[in-house]
Amino acid sequence: MNITPLVPHYIAGEWLRSTQLATTPVFNPSTGDVIAQCPVGGAAEANAAVAAAHAAFPAWSETPAVERARVFFRYRQLIEQNYDALCATVSREHGKTLAEARGDVHRGIENIEYACGVPTLLFGDTLENLARSVDCETLHQPLGVCVGITPFNFPAMVPLWMFPLAIACGNTFVLKPSEKVPLTAVILAELLEKAGLPKGVFNIVHGGREAVDTLLTHPKVRAISFVGSTPVAKYIHETGTRHGKRVQANGGAKNYIVIMPDADMGKTVEALSTAAFGCAGERCMAGSTAVTVGAAAERLLPDLVAAARAIKIGRTDQPAPAAQPDMGPVITAAHRDRVLSLVASGESEGAKVIADGRGLTVADAPRGFYLGATIVDGVQANMTLAREEVFGPVLNVMRMDDLDAAIAQANASAFGNGAAIFTASGRAAREFKHRVKAGMVGINVGVPATMAMFPFTGWDDSFYGDLHIQGKEAVQFYTQQKVITTRWFGGEVGDVWKK
Ligand code: NAD
Repeated sequence: MNITPLVPHYIAGEWLRSTQLATTPVFNPSTGDVIAQCPVGGAAEANAAVAAAHAAFPAWSETPAVERARVFFRYRQLIEQNYDALCATVSREHGKTLAEARGDVHRGIENIEYACGVPTLLFGDTLENLARSVDCETLHQPLGVCVGITPFNFPAMVPLWMFPLAIACGNTFVLKPSEKVPLTAVILAELLEKAGLPKGVFNIVHGGREAVDTLLTHPKVRAISFVGSTPVAKYIHETGTRHGKRVQANGGAKNYIVIMPDADMGKTVEALSTAAFGCAGERCMAGSTAVTVGAAAERLLPDLVAAARAIKIGRTDQPAPAAQPDMGPVITAAHRDRVLSLVASGESEGAKVIADGRGLTVADAPRGFYLGATIVDGVQANMTLAREEVFGPVLNVMRMDDLDAAIAQANASAFGNGAAIFTASGRAAREFKHRVKAGMVGINVGVPATMAMFPFTGWDDSFYGDLHIQGKEAVQFYTQQKVITTRWFGGEVGDVWKK
């Protein structure tokens, strides 16, 4: 008998049970226990959610921008007040440590703060006397129903990248969260309702392919924001644009971190182990490959291996801060097995595991999905491990003779999300930032993920679309411009005033 709670859809301000019986399990990755069942929502739920959002659009889009912004000022405060509960839910369903969950929610709050600025973000341009007595102005108007489809790895931040700004711009919204982490989205919706958002402006439909396909092809949907793996991002972009939607689709990544021999090795070890093993490597901005140049390898690796071995791994679902480990589990047993098989493939192709996190067990949680910090040295460009996104606590090491070779290696990747260099040389850093093919670049910064006011600028197979998530590009994405050209007839101005 299924006794775990069924996650409800949220449509037109009502919490609804699925009309379908099929569900997928939501795990607590720390223990391996099933904590909820996520409905495999289908076309019926997706259609109902779009209908609710479409019905709510006329009134919401006519609500003045300052009033729309006020909802998000209140929302921000409510999230602060419910911070601990929200972070605990993120940890419980995702497996992040509490500190990482706080980072996830905090980055989300920054996006709400950005959306609070919507009255000024929507300012248009004007030019008087474009021609004689002709004036021109631009307006930024909302699109209508927007959709967000989100991944498992940032249950709070990624949805908050999307719906606060879309809604503050005057749109209505349907969120399809990851079926692996649907519980955080439920709290986000409850708080938005408390903040005073009218019914139907924000809706949640759960599920997988069927729900997504209905949203991608629905004639009333105007724009789709997607974050997830590259094959799905590509599919979302192709299908959505073929059906006339605006689409921004963030995909996977493989981020290179170049270490020059002159780098501050102490600081580099710290930054690299956070970049590679933070959030158990389940970050699209994870530093997944260290490219050492010349003598950097010998100076870096002993301390890096020691740092990896010292990482404490354990349950993240226990509220006591003293019980918190440095790193939690990965999302599912299947994902752990995939990561293990990629490491094994590297080994069988000649790479060497120099810090081995395989076979790790946590005494009080033997069924949790654990994997220790792992470093694989001698990775070559043609290996599967070098080409595929691993998305786990695994750092590849590739050794190069010079900076040119290191940049060429980074640029050979099909992805283009992030890249970083650690060096004391301004010349090397300048060369790297100019030539590297990645949208977000760090100089002595291991995870150069952009904050809310800057776009999240993936390139190549890390992004499909034109306008990125976050910042001014996102305001453009969620609005359409209208250009008004004005001329008034009626003779001389003086004559008008005399009548
Ligand atoms: P995923 O692609 O499996 O799932 C993402 C979303 O798409 C989920 O809501 C899922 O239900 C839906 N989905 C999955 N398969 C689908 C299909 N065949 N048709 C329609 N919808 C489908 O991604 P994930 O495993 O949840 O997340 C991890 C991935 O997300 C990694 O590749 C990571 O790099 C990427 N990611 C990218 C960014 C970025 O900004 N570039 C940020 C976070 C995560």
